[in-house]
Amino acid sequence: MKINSTVTMTFDNEGSRYPVIFLDIDGVLNTFLKVVELSLPLERPCVAVLNQLIEKSGAKVVISSSWRLYYDLEKIREILEEYGFVGEIIGKTPVLKGSERGEEIKTWLQVHGEGAASFVILDDHADMCDIRDHLVRTDANEGFQKHHGLRALEILERDECHD
Ligand SMILES: [Mg+2]
Repeated sequence: MKINSTVTMTFDNEGSRYPVIFLDIDGVLNTFLKVVELSLPLERPCVAVLNQLIEKSGAKVVISSSWRLYYDLEKIREILEEYGFVGEIIGKTPVLKGSERGEEIKTWLQVHGEGAASFVILDDHADMCDIRDHLVRTDANEGFQKHHGLRALEILERDECHD
């Protein structure tokens, strides 16, 4: 899939809004206890919880992980799919040197997020400035667990706009 960067990205083919998941990978889809080399392996159970969240919410994924510095989106998609990921990756946040990750996410939302019905941030760090109430923070030793998935769904449903 070709990634473009138009504002219409967060509208689906029928023009409907959908929720967005900002996805960190290290400490979310892998665990620091088990990583052997270069962030791998990912944890299939954590990927499965993410798949469930996507299935229940209809959300699409924007990569906020530092992986975006090292891999293009096609490669990230390929690696995630190797571990069972079935969602749709629609973009990545910009890299703003010296800024909190939350600022990068806010910038993405300002440029592309007009159609975002709601959003949630999955991350093991809390540098999310004033959008911290959208964060589901994981423990890097265990990654994305079922209770995190439930909390993320609550946040997406809390903020969803129905206009
Ligand atoms: Mg991380």
